[in-house]
Amino acid sequence: MIPFADLKAQYHSIKPEIDAAISRVLESSQFILGEEVAAFENEFARYTGADHAIGVNSGTSALHLALVAAGIGEGDEVITVPFTFVATVAAVLYTGARPAFVDIDPLSYTRDTNRIEAAITPRTKAILPVHLYGQPADMDPILEIARRHHLTVIEDACQAHGADYKGRRVGSIGDIGCFSFYPGKNLGAYGEGGAAVSSNAEYVRRIRMLRDWGAEKKYQHVLRGYNYRMEGLQGAILRVKLGYLDKWTEARRGHAAQYTKLLADSEIGLPRERPYARHVYHVYAIRTKEREHLQRALQEEGIQTGIHYPIPVHLLPAYADLGHHAGAFPHSERAANEVLSLPMFPELCGSQIDEVSRAVSNAVTPRNAAHS
Ligand SMILES: *Cc1c(COP(=O)(O)O)cnc(C)c1O
Repeated sequence: MIPFADLKAQYHSIKPEIDAAISRVLESSQFILGEEVAAFENEFARYTGADHAIGVNSGTSALHLALVAAGIGEGDEVITVPFTFVATVAAVLYTGARPAFVDIDPLSYTRDTNRIEAAITPRTKAILPVHLYGQPADMDPILEIARRHHLTVIEDACQAHGADYKGRRVGSIGDIGCFSFYPGKNLGAYGEGGAAVSSNAEYVRRIRMLRDWGAEKKYQHVLRGYNYRMEGLQGAILRVKLGYLDKWTEARRGHAAQYTKLLADSEIGLPRERPYARHVYHVYAIRTKEREHLQRALQEEGIQTGIHYPIPVHLLPAYADLGHHAGAFPHSERAANEVLSLPMFPELCGSQIDEVSRAVSNAVTPRNAAHS
């Protein structure tokens, strides 16, 4: 069996350090925030190139607080994409604002920057690009449009820890960057976790208060806040794992290169690293019109796959009241029907990638047959 991801293998590779970190927190009994979280915040800020990081209890919370800190609420619009994990859009709706969707570029699966300008209205307050699968969105045109229209840029970097855009780390390129440490992410906690990073002192001050009931100091609540604090255990665990992230990212990139080489002659659509991007391959998504057949064939060979994501957010029943119909965002809808994520995790080995690639090539219609 080749799993889609293997969190246990990774734990075993760093077990003594993790166990020591957990003991440290139990002994200190700083279960919420505390020194380990503060130290992780400093280390993660340095890693992303932002001045500050604020640890929270999920990527969704980071997105929500980033939007609130930027003053976004009822009556405002936030430009984002429908081809993303649902949390991107849910966070906008939590604030009372409305998501204004623009379609994706079908090659990079990130926003088509040519479409942003047309989506701007007098109510638009922010642009929320998603670095989907670990590939940075094309940020320069986004920043340029944002500057011209006085919009805040909030990056959804929940899948892109350590990815670079033109040599700059994602998360620190816009005004606020949001990360998830859900266990399966490239940097994963052993529970829920997230962080917002920013070099804007006012946003940092607000997010820091908002995550802990909007308090300036204990019981002095100056903002309407939330209980979105990071746990001490997660901070200590993430400090250990951050030390390995670059090594793990290199392993993912190596696996991606091997898949790409082995599948180059097949009829399959392969991920394309854009010239401006250093992709961190949270997901290695291939593309085929024969997806259901291919997924079934791989399953029969004991190879687990995933679909990220089968339904674009604008077509989910939960968001039907936004009033979008099938056909509204054709590139997103086509991608949702055709993408298939192959096993991808740092501990995957070369022979497993060979086996998966062989199974993929055998299952899809060969190029010649398709034309006969
Ligand atoms: C995982 C993810 C989120 C949400 O993060 P959680 O920690 O699960 O709340 C948001 N956006 C994207 C693109 C994600 O992949």
